[in-house]
Order: sequence, then C-alpha cells, then structure tokens
Amino acid sequence: MLQVNQLLDNEIIDLTCQVFSTIVDDLNNGLYKDINGEISVRWSIREVFYAWAAVDITDESTPKHYVGLTYETVVLLYRDVEAYFKYIESGIDNDKFDTIFQDFEYPKSLSLASSLEDCKKNMFISGITWLFFHELGHLVQEHGIVRQEYGCGVRMDIVDCASNDNVTNQLLTGKASAVSHVTEIAADYFATISCLRALARHFDGSVFDEEVRSFSVALALVLYRFHGTESFTPMSKPKGSHPIPLIRLEQTQPLIFEVYSKLNVQETLNSSLSRLDMINITSWSSYTVGLFWLRKNRHFEIPEDYFIAGSMQRHEMLPYHKHILEVWDEIKPRIDEVKRIDDEYSELQFSPHYRNILENIVLGSGN
Ligand SMILES: [Zn+2]
Repeated sequence: MLQVNQLLDNEIIDLTCQVFSTIVDDLNNGLYKDINGEISVRWSIREVFYAWAAVDITDESTPKHYVGLTYETVVLLYRDVEAYFKYIESGIDNDKFDTIFQDFEYPKSLSLASSLEDCKKNMFISGITWLFFHELGHLVQEHGIVRQEYGCGVRMDIVDCASNDNVTNQLLTGKASAVSHVTEIAADYFATISCLRALARHFDGSVFDEEVRSFSVALALVLYRFHGTESFTPMSKPKGSHPIPLIRLEQTQPLIFEVYSKLNVQETLNSSLSRLDMINITSWSSYTVGLFWLRKNRHFEIPEDYFIAGSMQRHEMLPYHKHILEVWDEIKPRIDEVKRIDDEYSELQFSPHYRNILENIVLGSGN
C-alpha cells in the first residue's frame, strides 16, 4: 500500500523533467549558444540504474550533445531518498551515531527548515542534478574524444551504470583503463563543483545549511548505490572502466568543505557552518548512508572496510592515486585542445600537498 504523500513513479519522472528542462534551457541559452551547439535529454526504458553521455559527431562545428538516463534511475533514486528519510526518522541506529558523532550535533530529523516532502524532493533534485552534471562534465570536456584516442571504446558514448552488466563492464586494462578512470573522476569533480556553485547561488542562511547537508547525503546515496554492499577492495592500478565508488565518494565529499571554506560561506551566505561542521556533515552523511544501504539490502553484518576514509589514509591505494595523477597530467593538454568550456575551477586539479605525498610513491611492475 502506498504511504500518504508518496510520489507516484510518473510524478517522479515529471519532477525530473521540470528540473532538467530548466538546466537544459539555461545551457542552451548560455554555454551551448556560445559554441553554436545544443544539448538535450534522452530517456531509456531499460530497467537498470544507468546514465550516459552521447555526442552526435556529424558536424563538429555545431555540437549536438545528449545526456541520457533511464526512467528506472530517477525512480530508484527517489525511492532511495524516501527510504533513507524513513531510516533516519526511525532512529534505529542512533546508538551507533551517538558513539561515532559524540562531539557533533548530528540531526535526528532531516526536515528542519522545510516540510518533509520538500526536503525529500530537494535531496532528490540534488542527486539527479549531480548525475546530469556528471554527464555534462564528460560532454563539455569532450572525454569521448580522448577516450577514443586511448582505446577506451570504439564509440564516443560514455556509459555510467550501477550494475555490472555488459554495458559498462568493459575489461579495460593499462593506459585505456587509467584514462577511463581519470575522466570519470574529472566528471565527478565537474559535477560536484557545479552543484556547489548552484547551491551557493540560490540559497543562503539556514536554507543553505540544510541544502549542503542534503547534497552531501544525495551524493552518498548515488555512490553507495554504485558501490553495493561489498567490502572495499583496494586496487593498486586502474582496472575496468570506472573507479571504485567509495574512492569517488572520498574524492568528492571533501570538495564541500574545501570549496565553501574558500568561499567563506559564514560571511558571504550567512551560513552557520564552520569548516569543521562541514567535515562532520560529510562524514555523517556518508556513514549514515552506508549503514542505511546495508539495512536496505538486509545485510546485518557490516562488511570490513565499508565506509569512507581519507584518500591518503588508504596506503595500499597510493600507487593507484599516483597513476591517476600521472595520467591526468598526460591527457590534460589534449583535453584543453578539445574542450568546449574554459573554466579552470570546474576542471580536476590536485593540490601541491597531494602531489608531494604521491611524489615519493614508486610505481613498479606490480603496480
Ligand atoms: Zn561517467
């Protein structure tokens, strides 16, 4: 039986269409107008959590780009948001949270400034916007061209899929795999920066604070869906087409406090969130989503190494990060030649500190 106020599948799809049509109109009246191109959305009825970026290459001077999504993706994401709210409101794991977050006033309820239904919608909108911007990142940086040049695939389409079906489970190895991984990380970076900018542009005060938390949870919900219920298995060099989802979460969540600290949101947006508050929010949201995902899938034991850690704290992953850094430095000049947008802030970058740590890692034949 449907719960009161639960959205129907077609209402979720309608809501998504409204959100995407606003984004697409803005892009077509701005960025895509400037490059004499066009972007649009394509839908698929495949029953899998699945998004993609496609390019019509008939005429390079008038680029036609497509962000594709299955209906199933948006319905599943909305249902995840609903179930996550129910999980938090139930307080079933509050004893665990009380211990882990003893120094942090974590929210026992997710609807503070807005109604419960609006909160769910806002979190969902954050999630689908991030997915859209991820695909947009592939498109505006023309990752398809670079991937093709490195043998990542025969076509320019880029597919992001939660299940290991044969759509994305290309058994890429070596340089092709590294290029595929790093362009995924670059698309995540673009998407996260774009979402953070949009939140800072549209909100301030307590509503901004609530949106930050909501976005952090949405990001974790999307990436835990990709991750599943398995333990984290380290890899010393890239394999396959996509990075480990927990690594993607570890690379994107810190952008929240890095970007907003630089923006000084307490002054500029009248936010009450300090840098430490935002660090706590990102670990709280990732941890609660991880536990929620296990409960949702009826896993009653917590797999080993299931939650996020700092990227640099996973020593066995340092060679992997070095591969990613080196390949990004190698392909970046080519991306600069073919990209459709000149916006260095949304382009993947590594701090001098990060580079220093990786400088001492020696890559041998085994990694
Ligand atoms: Zn992707």
